[in-house]
Amino acid sequence: MMHIPFDNSYAKLPPQMFTAQLPTPVEAPKLIAANAELAAILGIDPADVTGPEAAQVFAGNHIPNGAAPLAQVYAGHQFGNWNPRLGDGRAVLLGEVIGTDGVRRDIQLKGSGPTPYSRSGDGRAWLGPVMREYLVSEAMHAMGVPTTRALAAVTTGEDVYREERLPGAVIARVAQSHIRVGTFQFFASRGDLAALHALTDHVIARHYPDANGPAELLDMVIARYAKLIAKWMGLGFIHGVMNTDNVSIAGETIDYGPCAFIDDFHPDSVFSAIDQYGRYAYANQPGIGAWNMAQFATALIPLMPDRDQAIADFTAAVHRMPALFEAEWLAVFGAKLGLANPREDDRKLITDLLDLMAKDGADFTNTFASLDTDTARDQFLNRDAFDAWAEHWSLRKSDSAAAIMTQANPQIIPRNHRIEEVIVAGKTGDMAPFHALLAAVTDPYASLTEATAPFARAPSKNEQVTRTFCGT
Ligand code: AMP
Ligand code: MG
Repeated sequence: MMHIPFDNSYAKLPPQMFTAQLPTPVEAPKLIAANAELAAILGIDPADVTGPEAAQVFAGNHIPNGAAPLAQVYAGHQFGNWNPRLGDGRAVLLGEVIGTDGVRRDIQLKGSGPTPYSRSGDGRAWLGPVMREYLVSEAMHAMGVPTTRALAAVTTGEDVYREERLPGAVIARVAQSHIRVGTFQFFASRGDLAALHALTDHVIARHYPDANGPAELLDMVIARYAKLIAKWMGLGFIHGVMNTDNVSIAGETIDYGPCAFIDDFHPDSVFSAIDQYGRYAYANQPGIGAWNMAQFATALIPLMPDRDQAIADFTAAVHRMPALFEAEWLAVFGAKLGLANPREDDRKLITDLLDLMAKDGADFTNTFASLDTDTARDQFLNRDAFDAWAEHWSLRKSDSAAAIMTQANPQIIPRNHRIEEVIVAGKTGDMAPFHALLAAVTDPYASLTEATAPFARAPSKNEQVTRTFCGT
């Protein structure tokens, strides 16, 4: 029997915050990936997550002892439009564990069948988005970005119907919690102060034990989110659906739908097929981050004794976010240039490089990964302009630049065209490309070898993937 040391706390919150909900069993579950390293952190025997029972557990067919499966309710602004009721429409929280590192985490099954929050959806996921989330979340973790993680993935032996018939799958996802800005918005918008209080107390105790009340909580969430978005920017990562229901209150990257990493750099890049107006374009992410924090602040107002004072204070808190972000951004990009102590006047050095990259469509990852070598200039059409920039750079570079840069600039990211390849193979039942890419992207800073070099190569024009899909 797989033993998961559950210690559930969300299930003890007021009943209007969730619905008890079992996963819907599936026909023929088959394990396609399991994360032994993460299992160990969670206090699960790593041998169990690849054992004979694993597929049944991670498909939701077999409920392990101590689980208290439930679907969480939330609301959210989707592309700026208010949606008063969303919730786990295709996921159930199995329960929580306190890891060997002392951190409490959720274990959730995504793709586990319908819930009261499914609306018109089928509650299922297909293999493509499950593979994408597995690869990208584990890559993000390996690159030091706070993120949900992938514990396991299974195929269900059932088909799901999107535009076509596709193989169904479930991902077992791990997060510090699945509480979102939208969770706060749900109770605030209904005037359910009891739940809003309970949720706030729960979040403070669980994620921000140093916060003394909602105002400090807001400051701390803003600080974490500013830092998170700066990390995304430093990797050329575009989340793609920064709706308030996809903003983790713990400051983790969550909900890898139409996300993408930039190949050739253009700050206005948008990949998501549904992001018609580029609301979540690469360069818009910090601004949208502040917009999302304004929604969080709004949801906290009903908790405050003096409403006008709270509006003034919270507005000021949100207005501090851009400066926090800029400081994080300078630290992130300073490290990418190997600056030991980035200063305000280094901003121009950084933006000058980014401008040259944008002008020439230089590959984001490979430019930074090769910056300290003779081949960096090959990324540029205007090599003289790059050489002139590199001269300025050499005056600022520290002795420790090489070491700093190796840690700050990954060689390998999960490139869109590689993920697509993996999914195409996965549809035919061939999981080998998935495992090869997973191995490469979870060791992103290693020097390239003959085996890993292909994963670092930028796509040719006809390999380029320019559109990604929510893929629900
Ligand atoms: P997302 O933008 O993918 O985070 O999802 C937004 C909302 O749609 C959430 O409430 C999801 O639970 C719900 N949803 C997405 N896909 C499905 C599906 N296949 N079945 C039911 N609900 C879904
Ligand atoms: Mg979501």
